[in-house]
Amino acid sequence: MPANIRAGDVMRKSVVTVSPGDTVDKVVDAMVDLDIGSVIVSERHKPIGIITDSNLLERVFSKHKDPRKMLAEEAMSHPIRTIEPDTDLEEVTRIMRDLGVKRLPVASDGRLVGIVTETDIIAVSPALFELARELTELRLGYTGKRSGTYTGVCERCGEYSEDLRSVEDMLVCPECRGA
Ligand SMILES: [Zn+2]
Repeated sequence: MPANIRAGDVMRKSVVTVSPGDTVDKVVDAMVDLDIGSVIVSERHKPIGIITDSNLLERVFSKHKDPRKMLAEEAMSHPIRTIEPDTDLEEVTRIMRDLGVKRLPVASDGRLVGIVTETDIIAVSPALFELARELTELRLGYTGKRSGTYTGVCERCGEYSEDLRSVEDMLVCPECRGA
């Protein structure tokens, strides 16, 4: 693990969020449309939970619950552990291992600013570079529609927006896309 690399260096600034009162079908739509494995549940920009693909399998689909009637707050894992942008990657890896999670939201002063996934950490570890390259190629090969409007953190400027749209495969706010 390279020294002095911090969460802020490898985090994805594009984070899709939903409100606790949103229905689970909205979460499913976002995950499928954007080809992402999780969304953060947030209240006034503060992350309060996370819904991952395994949450959906365990809490919704395997129990035959109706995603149109179930709320995000019922499907999410919480409380959520967040890390700071300056948390170093060894610490991030240790927290992931201790909690048995593959993703950690990054918050600065309690405000969501990004997310670090296990894949992002693998990408900066030289021993696993080849695997990361393969994963990246798989990701780039994705040709989803990414046509919706999402709430979360703009991938370009890092500001929170309720009107993120996909431009050149980045989720960006109205200002960054010149709207
Ligand atoms: Zn922006």
